Amino acid sequence: MERELTATALQPEITARFASLIERGTLAHAYLLVGNVNMGTVALATEVALRLFCPHQDDQGHPDRTCPECQRVLSGNHPDVVVARPEGRQIKVDQVRYLKAEFSKTGVEGEKKVFIIEGAETLTGSAANSLLKFIEEPGPGVYIFLLTPNKNAVLQTVQSRCQVIELRPLPSEMVKEQLQEAGVPEYLGPLAAGLGLSAKQGASLMEDDWLPTSVKLVFDWFKEVASGDPLSFVDVQTGFLKQGSDRAKQLVLLDLVTMVWRDALLLKNRVTEPERLHFRQWQAEVAQLIMPSSAQQVLVASELTLEGRHLLDQNISFQNVVEQLTLRLLLVMKGDFSEERGSNRE
Ligand SMILES: [Zn+2]
Repeated sequence: MERELTATALQPEITARFASLIERGTLAHAYLLVGNVNMGTVALATEVALRLFCPHQDDQGHPDRTCPECQRVLSGNHPDVVVARPEGRQIKVDQVRYLKAEFSKTGVEGEKKVFIIEGAETLTGSAANSLLKFIEEPGPGVYIFLLTPNKNAVLQTVQSRCQVIELRPLPSEMVKEQLQEAGVPEYLGPLAAGLGLSAKQGASLMEDDWLPTSVKLVFDWFKEVASGDPLSFVDVQTGFLKQGSDRAKQLVLLDLVTMVWRDALLLKNRVTEPERLHFRQWQAEVAQLIMPSSAQQVLVASELTLEGRHLLDQNISFQNVVEQLTLRLLLVMKGDFSEERGSNRE
């Protein structure tokens, strides 16, 4: 069962800042919270709502989280806490219409109303424009929280009307703990952390042992490529295409590929601090495997994997990307740089 972490646990300093704003009655009307859910964007907005609505706060303003008001906020049933999140790729037109209607109504039960809009970067230009007036001048007692993992993707007109708060990345210990609770074994911790997985994503990638199987696949493939074994090409057809059954999984596989080659590059350059390595469990083996290769070979190989990852982002087919990458890596490991040297890659 996934433990729910409070904003105080995830973002202690920012939570304290909000607590004092609420206490002094100086909460601004619109905030853009930048960070992923994992880092506590939703938890933080929820915490503010709890503090605004819970009548049973202790002397430090901590809501009790158990009273009917808190329960309604936490279960998403509070009439004065309006939540919108993207359905599919974006916040839909009817959601925007609903938001506008809610903005026009004052608080149903009190004088306060909180809006939590997740995925603010998915608001289309016209949707955002139709909300601008409310974001700029919401009624009294209205507090708006726009949430986004990517500030740069949020329209400038929206950003400029909000106070922008960037959440801090979680301490790695905390990430580790969350992942372990999600059932990710300890030896995969550095990889899962490197992939930036949330506990939830970690748990879903553990289904049918997908993550351990994929890590093994990528490492076996690396072993073969690093020793110039053409069998590595077979891994692509059998393993990679099977494991990469959807886009998200394909991206994780390619991330694992870049991570193992990055480790190889670090080790080739005698960087051995365990906290900088992702395939930590296999450190000795990686170092051994790339011993016969030159630093230049490992560098070019590592760059090729990054380029492959980039190509996948550009919607080139997964099969194409991994096959081409494997062939080019095999050439580089043989000491043949002709293609790499000559081509002027973007
Ligand atoms: Zn309460």
